[in-house]
Formats: sequence, C-alpha cells, structure tokens
Amino acid sequence: MQPLVITVDGPAGVGKSTVAHLVAKRLNIAFLDTGAMYRGIAVLCLEAGVDPKRDPHGVARLAEQAQIRFDWQADPPGLIVADGESQRDLTDSLRDDNVTQTVSQIATIAMVRKILVDAQRQIATDRLRLVTEGRDQGSVVFPDAPLKFFLDADPAKRAQRRAKQLRDAGVYVDENKILDSIRSRDYRDSHRTDGPLMCASDAIRIDTSTIKQEIVVDLIVKQVQQYIDSQYDDHGVWKGMG
Ligand code: C5P
Repeated sequence: MQPLVITVDGPAGVGKSTVAHLVAKRLNIAFLDTGAMYRGIAVLCLEAGVDPKRDPHGVARLAEQAQIRFDWQADPPGLIVADGESQRDLTDSLRDDNVTQTVSQIATIAMVRKILVDAQRQIATDRLRLVTEGRDQGSVVFPDAPLKFFLDADPAKRAQRRAKQLRDAGVYVDENKILDSIRSRDYRDSHRTDGPLMCASDAIRIDTSTIKQEIVVDLIVKQVQQYIDSQYDDHGVWKGMG
C-alpha cells in the first residue's frame, strides 16, 4: 500500500472533525484528530494545576511525559495517555468547557507544538494512510501532502450549528457565549507565531456556510479517488512518487 496523507484544516466549530472522520471511514483509512492531542495536554494541565501562561515549561514537561497515543480500535480513535505504568483514556474529558477554554493557550507554546507535531508525523509513518485534521496540518506538519483541504464558515454560522448540536443533546446553551468563544479561539489560533491557523497555498478551500456536511464529504472523497486513480497506470501499477 502506498502512503497517503490527506489534510483537513480550518477554524473552531467548522465541522472538520465530523467531515474528516466520515471521509476516513469512506476511504477505509485512519482518522487523526490533532485537536484531541492538544486537548489531552489541556486536561493534564488542569488536573495538575499547571497554568500555561505562567509556566509554559511545566506544560511542555507534562506533554513530554504524557506519551500521547490513540486507541486505533475505537471509532473514532480514543485518546490515551501513559499514567505511570498504566494507561488512561481521556476521550470523555476532551470537550469539557474548561478544557476548551484552556486549550488554545496551550497550543501557543512552541515546545508543546514540537512534541505533538513530531508525534503526528510518527503516526502518519505508522498508519501509512491517514486523514488528519487540525489547524496546521497542510501548512506545517505535512507540507508535502498531495491533498489538502481547508474548511471555512462564517463564525455566526459555526456558533449556530454548535448551539443546535448541544441543544439536540439536551444541553442548555447561550449562543452568544459560544460565538465569543469561537471568535477568541480563532483569534489566538491565527495570531500565534508557531503553526498558526492558515490555509496552505495549495489547499482546496471549501466554504461550508451553506453546504450540507454530506456534500462536503462527497466532494473530498471524489477528489481523493481521482488522485488515487491518477497514481496508477492502465495495468494497475503504481506510477511512483512525483
Ligand atoms: O479542533 P479542536 O477544536 O479540537 O482544537 C482544539 C484547539 O487545539 C484549537 O483551538 C487549537 O488551539 C489547538 N490546535 C492546534 N493545532 C492543531 C489542532 C488543534 O493548535 N493542529
């Protein structure tokens, strides 16, 4: 099997995770949620009482010790951290409010980014074929990926969708608060010096404000299938890199 990395980047609440997960399932390849890795470090910081603003080195130490990995048997893959001799699945805590509020601060720390970027590249080497989603996957982590997508949508639309999702799950929400949180994460994610949120120059940009999720998935899968077909000659032999 030839290696293949497909990147899906975009701002908070744009639906990247759902889209990337569905694309990976349709193509029967691995799905990597890199936001979960940053969120995992945020959980550990909150548990240990490490303040990312005051003690970035403390956060980097936690990230180094944690040995973040995924349970690839779960769907979507669960986030595991080493805890002494044993392992712990942090998946259920990743979307907690305090984690969402802390995570983009943690993501500004260059030492943490280096640890997680190295881990993401190692995962791509191990899994071989991967749909990976985040903020910097096409621009920094996998600049040579042959297929890059950038999903975007108006912040108000993203807040509206997120609020609906939570209401459907029976959770009371203040849509304005969600919008504020989306805007402040967007701001922090786009203005950091290391691995900022950006659309790689060779990425296909898709505005999802008015397009249904299934259509976005279809569009990406079609592009990937066309690319895969173009890599093999008429006898089904791989044409090789470049
Ligand atoms: O995608 P998600 O909302 O789960 O990401 C949580 C946070 O992790 C983002 O707001 C961003 O600060 C950080 N992140 C990042 N680089 C990535 C993925 C996520 O900085 N590749």
